[in-house]
Amino acid sequence: MLLAARGRLRVHLRATWLSGKTRPMEYRVAQLEALGRFLDEKKQDILEATASDMGKVRGIRGRIFGALSTHPSLGFRIMPSTAPCPQAGGARRAGGHHVTVLMACLPPAGNCVIVKPSETSKNTERVVAEMLSCYLDNDCFAVVTAGVQETTMLLENKFDYIFFTGSTSVGRIIMTAAAKHLTPVTLELGGKNPCYVSDTCDVQNVARRVAWGRFFNAGQTCIAPDYVLCSVEMQEKLMPALREAITEFFGSNPRESPDFGRIMGDKQFRRIRALLCSGRVAIGGQTDEKERYIAPTVLADVLPSDPAMQEEIFGPILPIVVVANMDEAIDFINARSQPLVIYAFSCDSKVVNQVLERTSSGGFCGNDTLMHVTLTSLPFGGIGNSGLGKYHGKFTFDTFTHHRGCLHRNMGLEALNALRYPPYSQQKLGL
Ligand code: NAD
Repeated sequence: MLLAARGRLRVHLRATWLSGKTRPMEYRVAQLEALGRFLDEKKQDILEATASDMGKVRGIRGRIFGALSTHPSLGFRIMPSTAPCPQAGGARRAGGHHVTVLMACLPPAGNCVIVKPSETSKNTERVVAEMLSCYLDNDCFAVVTAGVQETTMLLENKFDYIFFTGSTSVGRIIMTAAAKHLTPVTLELGGKNPCYVSDTCDVQNVARRVAWGRFFNAGQTCIAPDYVLCSVEMQEKLMPALREAITEFFGSNPRESPDFGRIMGDKQFRRIRALLCSGRVAIGGQTDEKERYIAPTVLADVLPSDPAMQEEIFGPILPIVVVANMDEAIDFINARSQPLVIYAFSCDSKVVNQVLERTSSGGFCGNDTLMHVTLTSLPFGGIGNSGLGKYHGKFTFDTFTHHRGCLHRNMGLEALNALRYPPYSQQKLGL
């Protein structure tokens, strides 16, 4: 029944696309303006929804809204001045909780889209489902709320493109389903992002930048530094500096801080809490299941075989793994899956460059964390287990656009064409 309904929805969106409705520039601009109105008029609802999903966190709320609100204007900027025909854009599916992708994928590129927000962020999912559809043209845009079972059924349909944000394991499921229809995919996945800290650096600055990247949104960002690699001496220096940074950001009791969030779900909370048995708890370690609270935590002397090093943490825990030097750090990184991003800190730019040049990852950021994602001029995406394809800025527009090679010729000058037609005489072949 549900499968049939989803199938009908896809057929309806495809019919809209075939009708050419989404092609005119004016139509796309009008849809972008409607998105702008959604963000203006529903700002409070969006902020409240994200606040109830993540805990009342001031920073993330402001930043989410900032990211969302820049996208419609970004759409205007990346849309070519003479609107091209999006040649392969029937029903496309955007998944995961990256509502921002929608801002660029639907109106500017002229696609019809089914959006499936993450059911984990229940309140955000509800706002998107209930309110966004009041602003956008429902003939070319649909929000589907679905759990795993319904998503599995949804994936049985043939789409022209699937954009997925989520874990590597679900990414595999999505790609397998897409392969049945030879549907191209962009997979924005996760993984363990290493952060190498060399012995020559400003420890206080490193600690602040690493702590900000790790504990932002209570560690639930795909580009968070997942673990630190450094010498035993640097570990000793980093520990008090990290403690100071955490206190500076969240006070002596982070649980009371309006800037520190909570874990998104009970299952995730229990999974992350189980990782605390790795190495030695040097900072934090307190948890409260009722609130899904895990304190900003730093684990020292973590071994590669410890639980925290077996999976992406996606929570407010920072393990430190001791290595002898940069070469050992590079070997450690290269012995594992290619991450979404690698971070390297050093006052010596040669060290940062060595880490960049001798490793492979979706992105790279030297002497800071997370900031590379703010540059829309940079492609954003993973490689290997951390993802497939890229987006952000103009790359998003290109991702959602089929670049169709076209040649139009006139019917004249046929005599010249005779040269390429057989029979190939000695003269034609120039012999
Ligand atoms: P998840 O993989 O558990 O879920 C993502 C989506 O997949 C959800 O919408 C869910 O409904 C759907 N899903 C789950 N199981 C499914 C199945 N069996 N079949 C079909 N669909 C299924 O991920 P999450 O917990 O929502 O997000 C955390 C992960 O996402 C982390 O690994 C993180 O690194 C990654 N992430 C990546 C990016 C990026 O841009 N690369 C951004 C944010 C998050």
